[in-house]
Amino acid sequence: MRLSKMHLKTLREAPTEAEIPSHILLLRSGMIRKLASGIYGFMPLGWRSLRKIEGIIREEMDNTGAQEILMSAIQPSELWEESGRWYAYGPELWRIKDRGGRDFCLGPTHEEIFTDIVRNDVSSYRQLPTTLYQIQTKYRDEARPRFGLMRSREFIMKDAYSFDKDREGLDASYDSMYDAYSKIFTRCGLTFRPVEADTGAIGGKGSHEFTALSEIGESEIAYCESCDMAATVERAECIDDAPTPESVEMLPLEEVHTPGTKTIEDVANFLKLEKSQTIKAILLEKYDEEGNVADYVACFLRGDRDLNMTKLVNALDIPEHAIAFADEEKMGSKTGAVGGFTGPTKLHDCIIVVDSELVGQKNLCAGACKEDHHILNVNYNRDYKGDIVADIKTLKEGDKCPVCGAAIKHTRGIEVGQIFKLGTKYSESMGAIYKDDKQEDHPIVMGCYGIGVTRTLAAIVEQHHDDKGIIWPISVAPYHVIVTLVKPDDEIQKELAERIYGELQAAGVEVLLDDRDERPGVKFNDADLLGIPLRITVGKMASEGIVEYKLRSEADKSELSVDEAIKSAVELVKA
Ligand code: ATP
Ligand code: MG
Repeated sequence: MRLSKMHLKTLREAPTEAEIPSHILLLRSGMIRKLASGIYGFMPLGWRSLRKIEGIIREEMDNTGAQEILMSAIQPSELWEESGRWYAYGPELWRIKDRGGRDFCLGPTHEEIFTDIVRNDVSSYRQLPTTLYQIQTKYRDEARPRFGLMRSREFIMKDAYSFDKDREGLDASYDSMYDAYSKIFTRCGLTFRPVEADTGAIGGKGSHEFTALSEIGESEIAYCESCDMAATVERAECIDDAPTPESVEMLPLEEVHTPGTKTIEDVANFLKLEKSQTIKAILLEKYDEEGNVADYVACFLRGDRDLNMTKLVNALDIPEHAIAFADEEKMGSKTGAVGGFTGPTKLHDCIIVVDSELVGQKNLCAGACKEDHHILNVNYNRDYKGDIVADIKTLKEGDKCPVCGAAIKHTRGIEVGQIFKLGTKYSESMGAIYKDDKQEDHPIVMGCYGIGVTRTLAAIVEQHHDDKGIIWPISVAPYHVIVTLVKPDDEIQKELAERIYGELQAAGVEVLLDDRDERPGVKFNDADLLGIPLRITVGKMASEGIVEYKLRSEADKSELSVDEAIKSAVELVKA
């Protein structure tokens, strides 16, 4: 491709709303175009890289034996009613009506659709296992679209669904997808880590997220250097501290005056206690399907712990959008809670969720449900009980690893893919049944496997760039080589550049020829911004048959004869 003919507009500056390198550079290099908040289009170079990623995904999916299909983005509400997700998916589900008033959604994912296909087509164990996949556009009306392709409202996903006879079959399908994902992200040039993950709205047990390590990532990962424990912070199990020894007596309750001590910090300082000797209260309200407050929820944890919202919604068995922090005044009038001074002993008419750790801890200090007062020596069972007792705390940096006890570390990553063992959640609710060899019915056992294709593109740029621009790994570069013709009006230079362009193309190398009538500085800057892995510059020494050979990833350049340069370029691409 000749740059003089290419539809390309690079920008010196990115719009101010672009904050992270991948967003800035994809816009500046003219690879993506914004249409509306969280909605982007792909220009020639961006689309080429995206298709390369898709190609890698397709090859690795096909290698597992999965078969590609393509389903519609528009999905009828009836299927979502059947699975129970028309409500559970919440406001992220992009709902639309047709002219007859019938409800549809723009698919955020396709479990319902694939389950529907398989329940219609599969009836016997002889047809299992089978895995289907697609690469298709998804829609999620995200509350906060941001970072360009990272969290957009329209994005391309590869989604695969496996259908097996039993758990062992699912385990095998899952393992084969796990391996395929590792190959895909390796081939895309990403530094990534598979970590245990929560199963969220999709449901089921057993899941891994594949996270591309990056400071700007929205996934926080807890990991251990002494063993191989690695999990998202939402998911990571947190070990309860040892209970207070038997020998310690439960002391009598004592109300104390603690003026103005609304936070754990304040009350611990005021009473000269450790935070771990206090009880923290978090007040929430839970909504019904119409969005009205159905219940108040009070969560209690040790004062040095943080609430883990994902664990809480799992314990309550509700979707995340069905809960939010409470209006404390309204909650107070109904339940006795007093903002900043709420404790578990005097609350009424609300769901009390107690972190499992509190059960074994004696003589703690809690709010007295009375302005400016706390109570000392609060003990579980004697003074209060939970409607639900569960691990609802976050595993923090420095906490003990739930597997080996060493100190936990945290890091951040971009979730580029996630795989789930769904089990029979969808096959049972939607009636996807097969008959075994004795003609007995069983629900099909399912798995689902997603890759954010457009997010992967952004993650690659996030990991491969410098202050001048993108540095594409060769596997996903829009072109392998850029031939920079310094002076297009110099006949010798022009002829040599054309020859290199032609010979590289003939050898199967994807080449851009920068034959634009621009100053050399502009051409070099653009070549760096676009991130083409190899630049061959045809300039002054063309008359001696010498060109400049420079890898985008390295600072050094070398002077090579034309034939050497062509040979090295071909070797680089074929390697
Ligand atoms: P997140 O936690 O980031 O919202 P998710 O867990 O809801 O993502 P999945 O349902 O697992 O996402 O979707 C599969 C993949 O699709 C994700 O691993 C991610 O790479 C990609 N993805 C999800 N939401 C978006 C989005 N809004 N924009 C771009 N890619 C997305
Ligand atoms: Mg996910």
